[in-house]
Amino acid sequence: MPAWVIDSYGGNDVLRYTTNASFPIIHYPNEVIVRVHAAGLNPLDVSMRGGYGAASLSMKRDPMNLQQKGSEFPLILGRDVSGVIMECGLDVKYFKEGDEVWAAIPPWKRGSLAEFVVLSANEISHKPKTLSHSDAASLPYVGATAWSALVHTGGLTKENCAKKRILILGGSGGVGTFSIQMLKAWGGHVTVTCSQSAEPLVRGLGADHVVDYTAGPVEVALSTLEKFDMILDNIGGDTESWALGLLKPWSGAKYVTLVTPFLQNTDLLGVADGMMQTSITVVSKVLKHLWKGVHYRWGFFIPNGLALEDISEMIRAVVEAEFPFSQVPQAFQKMQEGHARGKTVVHVA
Ligand code: NDP
Repeated sequence: MPAWVIDSYGGNDVLRYTTNASFPIIHYPNEVIVRVHAAGLNPLDVSMRGGYGAASLSMKRDPMNLQQKGSEFPLILGRDVSGVIMECGLDVKYFKEGDEVWAAIPPWKRGSLAEFVVLSANEISHKPKTLSHSDAASLPYVGATAWSALVHTGGLTKENCAKKRILILGGSGGVGTFSIQMLKAWGGHVTVTCSQSAEPLVRGLGADHVVDYTAGPVEVALSTLEKFDMILDNIGGDTESWALGLLKPWSGAKYVTLVTPFLQNTDLLGVADGMMQTSITVVSKVLKHLWKGVHYRWGFFIPNGLALEDISEMIRAVVEAEFPFSQVPQAFQKMQEGHARGKTVVHVA
């Protein structure tokens, strides 16, 4: 089948178009084969193209370590999909052939930059009829990540979010534009950091207060504001050194960062030592902040077909760039240049 694959890790030049990729096979009775109409890209695709996470993702694909190094190649990237079910496994009850579905594809599975992809039924949802395939392919991965970070890790819900003060560091990209809408739909008060050129976008999505991080030290501007109940950090780096001081102490307030060294540690140190290092790092940070009365957490993408159904009612897609299937390298180039204002999508069929 037609697909974009990589045969080694590297820059954009490792992306190779083929009409000869192996057709996906249903291995378990709860799986479906989806004909891809549109594929969404995420920063993770650019990182994975360069080898990020290779050690732990290989372990997830081959837990017994039976296969040779490099057995993941040819690797198909692309974490978001919107398409139509072509075939269902014997145990699949909730979906049938011809259903339009959308999904976020876990990073250890073959991705959506291909004509077909195989997924388990619990990873997919019926695509809302109101969304085009292109819009639908822009939402699942950032949606599942935002849901996991804000709801599972941050403890926010439809019922308890009203009037809470939430700070989103990095509001103009994929996760940020999604999170603003979700929190506003739940009645939260949302402050966002972004560059000045992104202010109209984030205000249009409902942000109550916007701080331009390019206008001077952002932590100084933020420290003049009333303290927050929750911070979602999409930026990382040195933000940890000042952001937790912006939380209301001794009130259950949480800082959740999506930028963690988890996969980097296993890439550098191997799976066992990397996981040990990760545990030491996270436990020491949690304890360091706990005695100051605030909670420090790491957030991760978790596939969640059911959350997609809830999400679809409250969110509009923010698609910044669309590319034909022949221009996947150009789509990666766009992602790599940064300064996202929403999502990048590839039309596959
Ligand atoms: P995007 O690339 O879509 O967006 C990043 C945005 O941040 C851009 O709009 C950029 O615009 C803006 N930005 C850059 N620097 C700053 C800054 N200092 N302050 C405020 N805004 C800034 O990324 P995503 O939203 O998809 O993902 C966000 C982060 O979360 C990424 O690092 C990603 O790898 C991570 N992530 C982690 C997951 C996990 O499982 N842990 C899952 C999903 C994402 P501009 O440069 O023009 O300001």
